Amino acid sequence: MKRIAIIGGGIAGLSAAFYLQQAKRGGAALEYVLYEAGERLGGVLRTERVDDCLVEAGPDSFLTEKPWAAELCRELGLEDQLLGSNDQLRRTWIVVNRRLRPLPDGLQFMVPTRTWPIVFSRLFSARTKLRMVGELFSPARTPSGDESAAELVERHFGREVVERLADPLLAGVYGGDAARLSARAVLPRFTEMEAQTGSLIRGMLAARRKRAGAPAQPLFSSLKDGMQQLVDAVVARLDPAALRRSAPVTGLRREGARWSLALAASPAESFDYAVLAIPAFRASDLLETVSPALAAVLAQVPYNNAMTLSLGFDAESILPSVGSRFHTGHGFLVPRREGRCLLACTYVHNKFPHRAPPGRVLLRAFLDDRHRDLAGLRDEEAVQVARLELRAVLGLYAEPRFARLYRWPAAMAQYEVGHLDRLAEIERLRAQLPGLALIGNAYRGIGVPDCIRSGRDAAKDITQTL
Ligand SMILES: Cc1cc2nc3c(=O)[nH]c(=O)nc-3n(C[C@H](O)[C@H](O)[C@H](O)COP(=O)(O)OP(=O)(O)OC[C@H]3O[C@@H](n4cnc5c(N)ncnc54)[C@H](O)[C@@H]3O)c2cc1C
Repeated sequence: MKRIAIIGGGIAGLSAAFYLQQAKRGGAALEYVLYEAGERLGGVLRTERVDDCLVEAGPDSFLTEKPWAAELCRELGLEDQLLGSNDQLRRTWIVVNRRLRPLPDGLQFMVPTRTWPIVFSRLFSARTKLRMVGELFSPARTPSGDESAAELVERHFGREVVERLADPLLAGVYGGDAARLSARAVLPRFTEMEAQTGSLIRGMLAARRKRAGAPAQPLFSSLKDGMQQLVDAVVARLDPAALRRSAPVTGLRREGARWSLALAASPAESFDYAVLAIPAFRASDLLETVSPALAAVLAQVPYNNAMTLSLGFDAESILPSVGSRFHTGHGFLVPRREGRCLLACTYVHNKFPHRAPPGRVLLRAFLDDRHRDLAGLRDEEAVQVARLELRAVLGLYAEPRFARLYRWPAAMAQYEVGHLDRLAEIERLRAQLPGLALIGNAYRGIGVPDCIRSGRDAAKDITQTL
């Protein structure tokens, strides 16, 4: 009987446990124990019911095109609980000089694929539009090392597209800065297209032609009762005796071919495998004596904080001229150049209508807690500052029925320039330590589906060696 320790009960660790549990049911001779430092499982996945609204504290959905989350839901029997985003109402605005400008139709991520919407768009200057025409003639480019996402986008479309699109879009996904994020890690499709066709526009159009005829699917998916439903369903399938909550792992030692775990409140335990589903800097702490070299590279993966504010309103309490803004659209993004601590705002009642009862407006704001207006503020003060920002952008003076602020310190791994080289080094050093797996959002994808895939793959690798 092989013993496996999973350290960290976020979605990555839970997925590893689920797939190990499945293998066990299928007859694999294994036993696993999952250690979670906190009282609850799920990590940043957490849904609350507030005033008849479904409020997501962490992720609100996942990208449908990445299949691993939906696959897990199906394996859990949650297929009929999956919901697509309401893309009929999908429209996004960008704040430019304090005004909301719609994203033109046909933009795929940040690449234009339709002519007239761009021609008439007030989001871009004439100079940028001309640049987009010129981009069609970009020659193929042999990749030479890594660069920032901002550099890649600027080379194709100019500075304005970096500021108005790349930076706010990437801030929305990574909570990071396009000037620091690695093009190869966060925009891999763009670097491939650049190598193959030169032009990103031509590359996108070719990809669209290939997809033609495939059934349209919603951009985002979630669950009827929110992301917590996924966590609860996974936990319900696991062996309760294998789940140790409030059990931080404080140290890791190699004992011959085995792993010894030091625990804060109980004696050390010994395992054949250790799956580290925790942030890279925590994995670095645990591995410091086992492999100082690996610990040093893991410590180099930077993290940013995340902060969200959910606000629920009676639609009637909002002035009609302002309320009409909320009839359509999924929300807006705020480029950093605008100097605001508000990074984005989702109109949740449009994106996932079942999350708010009729007659309500449910907003979720993403805030930059490093911004000077927010740094060091208590929650009540931060809510007031965020409301002032919403007032400035939307003219929203109404009193909310509720406000919920969530802080996630050091939750967003930053795939900065050189990330893939760092990953290769981490992999090389990890391979010298048989029985060790590193999973979660620090490595090959920050989104929920990628974290699930990392847990599933770790479980598969382990069961294959049994
Ligand atoms: C506000 C926010 C919004 C997001 N929105 C989306 C979205 O809409 N779609 C999407 O796909 N992704 C989104 N993400 C990203 C995604 O949710 C995360 O990257 C992913 O859930 C991380 O999962 P994880 O298991 O790697 O880590 P975590 O969820 O951070 O879990 C790690 C766990 O390890 C535990 N731990 C740490 N140290 C120890 C220790 N020594 N011993 C035991 N346990 C330990 C922690 O307590 C924690 O529970 C969002 C993230 C945030 C913060």
